Amino acid sequence: MLTDPLESSLMRKPIALLLIGLAATASHAENKVDIFTTPGKLPKDIVPRSYQIYLEPNIEALVTDGFESIEIEVLKPTDHIVLNAVDTEIVAAKIAISNHKEELTPQFDSNQQTVSFESHNILEPGLYTLSFKFQSRIGEQPHGLFIQHYDSNGTLEHLLATDMEPGDARRVFPCWDEPVFRAIFQLSVKAKKENTVVSNMPVFVEVSFGADEKIVIFEKTPPMASYLALLACGKLEWLEDEVAGVKLRIMTTTGKKEFGRYALEATKKLLEYYNDYFSVPYPLPKLDQLAFPSGFGSAMENWGGITYNEDALLFDPVTSSEATRQKIFSVIAHEIAHQWFGDLVTMAWWNDLWLNEGFASWMERKAADHFNPEWKVWLHAAIQKERAMAFDARKITHPIQQPVADEDQAKSAFDVITYQKACFFLRMLENFLGEEAFRSGIRAYLAAHQYANTTTEDFWESLELVTGKPIKKIVSGWTEQPGFPLIKVTTQCLGGNRIISLEQIPFVLADRDNRPTQWTVPVGVRSTANPSEVKYALLEKLSNNFDFPGCAGAIQANAGNIGFFRVLYEPALFNDLQNNVEKLPESDRLSLVTDTWALVESGNTAVSLYFDLLENLRRDDSFAVWQSALGEQETTGALKLIDRLEEGRAGRETYQQYICSLFNPKLQKLGWDEKSGEDIETHRFRAMLIETLGFFGDRVVIDESFKRFEKFRDDASSLAPNLRSPVTVIVGRYSSRTVYDELLSMAEKARIVEERRTYLRALSAALDPELAHRTLEYLMSDHVMPGDACRALEDLATEGEHPAIVWEFATAHLNEMEQRFGLFRRNRLLSSIAAGFMDAPQADALIAFARSYLAPVALREFEDSADLIRFRAKLKVKTLPAIDEWIKMKGDGAPSKAEAKSVDRHSR
Ligand SMILES: [Zn+2]
Repeated sequence: MLTDPLESSLMRKPIALLLIGLAATASHAENKVDIFTTPGKLPKDIVPRSYQIYLEPNIEALVTDGFESIEIEVLKPTDHIVLNAVDTEIVAAKIAISNHKEELTPQFDSNQQTVSFESHNILEPGLYTLSFKFQSRIGEQPHGLFIQHYDSNGTLEHLLATDMEPGDARRVFPCWDEPVFRAIFQLSVKAKKENTVVSNMPVFVEVSFGADEKIVIFEKTPPMASYLALLACGKLEWLEDEVAGVKLRIMTTTGKKEFGRYALEATKKLLEYYNDYFSVPYPLPKLDQLAFPSGFGSAMENWGGITYNEDALLFDPVTSSEATRQKIFSVIAHEIAHQWFGDLVTMAWWNDLWLNEGFASWMERKAADHFNPEWKVWLHAAIQKERAMAFDARKITHPIQQPVADEDQAKSAFDVITYQKACFFLRMLENFLGEEAFRSGIRAYLAAHQYANTTTEDFWESLELVTGKPIKKIVSGWTEQPGFPLIKVTTQCLGGNRIISLEQIPFVLADRDNRPTQWTVPVGVRSTANPSEVKYALLEKLSNNFDFPGCAGAIQANAGNIGFFRVLYEPALFNDLQNNVEKLPESDRLSLVTDTWALVESGNTAVSLYFDLLENLRRDDSFAVWQSALGEQETTGALKLIDRLEEGRAGRETYQQYICSLFNPKLQKLGWDEKSGEDIETHRFRAMLIETLGFFGDRVVIDESFKRFEKFRDDASSLAPNLRSPVTVIVGRYSSRTVYDELLSMAEKARIVEERRTYLRALSAALDPELAHRTLEYLMSDHVMPGDACRALEDLATEGEHPAIVWEFATAHLNEMEQRFGLFRRNRLLSSIAAGFMDAPQADALIAFARSYLAPVALREFEDSADLIRFRAKLKVKTLPAIDEWIKMKGDGAPSKAEAKSVDRHSR
C-alpha cells in the first residue's frame, strides 16, 4: 500500500481541462469478437471508449500523481463499475449522469487487482464520464512505470519507462486492463524541461510550467489495448528519418545515438516491406524506437514507441559482431511486425497469444530472409525449432491455443510453444498453401479486423475465404493439440517406381501419456538421385501409401526441414541416407542430424548410429549442421549436452578429445584470421569452431586465445569483432586471478551492453570455483544492471558449470534476489539455474523447495525443470556407457588426437 498521503500538493491542478476538445485522430472500430464470451475477470457490461490521463511522476517519492477522465459505455444496465488498479489510491471519483455528478467511493480488491464503484442509480445503456484523481507507484522492476538508474560518463542518471504486458498498465493508471477493452488513450505528462517525453503518438502541444518544468500533451491514439500504452522520459538523443510518410526516430541515452544508425536503416527497409506485404499501411504518424541501457526482457512492441534493451537495438560497427547485427535485425523485424500483429489487430484474450507472438516470430524470419538471403535465416532458425520440439515432446507441454485464467498465467504463456512452435507451424502452413495464397489470407485477416480484436477462429475464416479450403479442419489439430508426430518411413520398389509408406505416431520423450492423437501432415519427400525435386504427400490418416517416381537414390522425408515433425527411417533406408548424406542440401543434413539425436533421446535409435552419422559428416563444413549438432546451452542438440552429462566421469576427457578431433581440422582449414571475400557464414563458423575447441579443452586453441587476448588488451583493433566473444570467453573459462581481474575491469569500462555482456559471460565461464564465487558477488553488486546480472547468473550455472554454487546462493538469499530481479524474474531465474542439474535427487529437492518457499503459480516452471533433470539423469544411464564404448572402439582412429590434448581442467 502507499505510504505517502494522497493530499500531495502535486494533485491540485486539473490539467485535464487542457485536453478537452482535441480532435480524434482515428476512426472508431467495432470489435467483431463477442466481448461477452471473451475470457477475463472484468465484467463486460461496461466498456471504456476513451481515456484522458494526466500523469505527474515524482522520482524522489517514487509515486505518480494523476488525474483521469474516462468515457465509458454501459452496454447492459448495471450499478456496478469494475476496472483494474494495483497499489493505487483514488480520491474524488465521480460519474457524470445526464446533468449532475454523482460522487463514488472506491472499493479495492487487491487479490483481483480491481477497484469498483457502486452507483446509487442504475446506469442505463449509454455514454458516461467517470473521473478521479489517483496516486500510483513507480517501481524498480519492469512492471508498469519503473525507474532505471544508469551511469552516464560518471554521472548517475535516471530514466522512466513503462512496460505493461500482460497486465501492468493497471499499476500506472486505473483502467480496463484486458486486451479486448480497446479504447482511445490520450496522455499528458509533467516533466523536467531537460527531459524528452515519449508516448505512442506525437506531441500535440508542449506547455511551459514554471522555470524548469513542462507539460507535454500527446495526440490521441487509435483504439488500442491498454498493455500497449507507452510513457518514457529521460535525457535522450536521437537519429531521425522518414519513410512512407512515417516519422522515424532511434532514441538513446546521451552519447549513443550513432550506434542507432544500423537500426534506422533496417527500420526504413522493414516498414516499406511490411506496408507492401500486409497491404495495410503502418497506421500511426510516427514510430519511435528507444534503446535503454537494460531493464526490459528484450523489447516491447508498444504501438508507435517500441522499447528495447540496448543490445537488441544498438550496433557499433567497430566492435559489434555479425551475430549481433543479425540479432538486431531480427528483433526489430519482430517488434515492427507486432505493430500489425498485436497492435493493429489484437488477440481478444491471452489464450490466443500465438496470434501475436507466433506471427511476429514467423514474420521476423521471413523479413530477415528476404533482405539478407546470405544469412540463411531459416536454416539457422532450426535451432529454435529444436528448442520447441524438445519441449513439445515432454509431459510439460501444452497446445498452442491454451486456456489462460488470469494475467499470472498469461505471463507463463510467453514460452517456446507460443513463439517458436507457432512460428514453425505457420511456416509449414505457408508452404502447404503457397506463399501467395497465404499472404492473401493474412491481408484479408488484417483488413477485416484492423483496430479490433480476434480469436484463432477469425484467422481460419480469413484463410478459408481466400483459399476456398476447409483450413480449420485440416490444420487446427496443430494449434489445439499438444505435441507433434513422428513419421515412420518405409519404402518398396515395385515395377521401377517406389511406394512410400508413411505412418504417424505422437513423438514423446520419457513418459508422456500416449493419448491417441493425429495430425494432418504435409510431408515433403525427395530422393538423393534428384534432390531439387520435392513431392508432397498429405498424410491425413494414421498411415498411408504414396507413389514416388523412380527407385534411384535414397529417400528423405522432410524436405527443407519445413515440417514440424520427426522422421524415423527403416534401418536399410537410414543406411542408404547416411551413405548418400553429402548429396542432401544443408537443411536436410541438418534435420537428419537433429532427428537422429532426438530418436536416441526417445529410445527409438541406438546412440552408436548417431555417432556413425557424425563420422559420415566429418568432411561436412556446414556451419548450421555443426551448430545444431553442438546444440544451444544444453537445451537442444547432442554434443554440449553429452559433455555436461559426462561431467565428473572418467569418460569426459576422451569424449572431449573426440569432439576436438571433429572440429580441429575444420579450424585448421579456415585459419584464425578472417580473409577478404569470405562469406558471413564462414566468419561465424570460425568463431563457433574456436569457442567449441576452447570449451572442449583444445590446448593449441586455448593458448592462441590467451595470446590474442593479450594483444587485444593493448590494441583493441587487433581482434576482429566476430572473434571477441569466443576469445574472451575461453580466456574467462581458464583464467588465473590476474586475468580475471583484467576481465573485471574491462567489464566496468565497456561502452555498450553487447561489450559488457561479453565480459560478463567470460567472468561467468570461469571454471575455478573461487572465481565463480567472486563472479556471483559481483553480479549481485550495484556495478551490474539487474537484466545483465540475470543472464550472467544463468551462464554461471550452465556454461560455468556451477549450478550448485549459484543455486545455494540464490535460495539462501530469496529476498535479495526478489528485490533485485522482481518476483517473476527471480522465480524464472531460479528454475533455469536449477535446470543446470543432471541428477534425479536434485529434481526432488527442487520441487520440495518450490513447494515450501514459492507461490503455487511458480510451480509450473519448477516442475518443468525437475522433469528435464529427471529426463537427463535417465539419459545419462542410457547413453553414456555406449558413447564411451563407441569412442573407445574408434580408439586411435580419431585423427587429430595429438592436436586435441585436453588441458588440465583447473585455471591457468
Ligand atoms: Zn513479440
